[in-house]
Amino acid sequence: MADTKLYDVLGVGRNASDLEIKKAYRKLAKEFHPDKNPEAGDKFKEISFAYEVLSDPKKRSVYDKYGLKGMQEVGHDGPTFAPDDLFSHLFGGGLFGMGMGGMRSRRPHRGEDMIHSLKVTLEDLYNGKTAKLQLSKNVICTVCDGKGGRTGASYTCRTCRGSGIKVTYRQLGPGMSQQLQSRCPDCGGEGEVINEKDRCSVCRGKKVVNETKILEVHVDKGMRENQKIYFRGEGDQQPDVEPGDVIIVLHQKPHEKFQRSGDDLLMTHSISLTEALCGFCMTLKHLDGRDLLIKHPMGQVVKPGDVKGIEGEGMPHHRNPFEKGNLYIKFDVTFPENHFANEITLKELEMLLPARPTFNMPKGEQVEEVDLHEFDPNDRSAGGSGRQEAYASDDDDHPGPAGVQCAHQ
Ligand SMILES: [Zn+2]
Ligand SMILES: [Zn+2]
Repeated sequence: MADTKLYDVLGVGRNASDLEIKKAYRKLAKEFHPDKNPEAGDKFKEISFAYEVLSDPKKRSVYDKYGLKGMQEVGHDGPTFAPDDLFSHLFGGGLFGMGMGGMRSRRPHRGEDMIHSLKVTLEDLYNGKTAKLQLSKNVICTVCDGKGGRTGASYTCRTCRGSGIKVTYRQLGPGMSQQLQSRCPDCGGEGEVINEKDRCSVCRGKKVVNETKILEVHVDKGMRENQKIYFRGEGDQQPDVEPGDVIIVLHQKPHEKFQRSGDDLLMTHSISLTEALCGFCMTLKHLDGRDLLIKHPMGQVVKPGDVKGIEGEGMPHHRNPFEKGNLYIKFDVTFPENHFANEITLKELEMLLPARPTFNMPKGEQVEEVDLHEFDPNDRSAGGSGRQEAYASDDDDHPGPAGVQCAHQ
């Protein structure tokens, strides 16, 4: 039976049109954006996920038919869709009776997943790329067909009586002990052993051989840091064990120009004071190699720290790469050096700038003229301010009577 959880998350009906879904998403995403509402992080993930599914006709139809459980199975097949942990995190493993993790632990005959990290650049995540990943894994020996020797050469391990497990007890205290299980050292946990002379000459009785395999990893446009790409059943092979998955986890190398925030890109650009006051042109090499030409008109003053945005020049949405986030540019303004012009020029410049505020010279004996010096608040070597701080932090370690009194109230 299908559920309507994702529709509920966006607050729309099952028959909502694409536009209604989009509108609902925009409104909620604005309201719960982590920048605005840091405590609503999970809610925001839920909203994004619901939109990701419902805005994609293919995913939406799978969801309508099979519900979240169906999504999870589909997602697990293809190279990444919704990471397992998102499901369990957002909707709780209990919703489906068992999360992916639960299924695995109840199925002991499944090999471990192999997790590899793949370093990608922001350009790769913008443009998409196919990476070849070489990995070494165990495959069943074809010579002995995974038996480790000729048929009938193996016999049950006497140490563990075939269980493959060695049980030891550890005394924790009077009347209390802990049972520890470890792999049987004599058979390596196999439960059976093969005499040396009967062992397969290729795998030396190990039943598996190591093989190098090359995986083609498709990094889709818009994928994110820590996103997982699954290769089902590509983990180590072992006789009578279902191989685990190979899981590729993406790690983005820091970019020298752009920072990513969701689907938005952020960057800082320095302009001169002249440009800040009189307008400017700039070009910006984008992640796909395009040069963006940006003209800022004369008359619009850019102040230090001003942020301006370009719509649709952020990162592509994963699975919907024609939709893109925004690009935000924060402006630094570089002021001219000391004495960049002579006195006459400066007076001329002053004539061009808005008038100074009026200054009333104070009169009387109380007036004292003082000097302004360069001051670096980070420089702790001079003056007593650094020392004072050290004493202050010492005090923190020993709460005074005032702190105790507070606790009693
Ligand atoms: Zn063999
Ligand atoms: Zn054994």
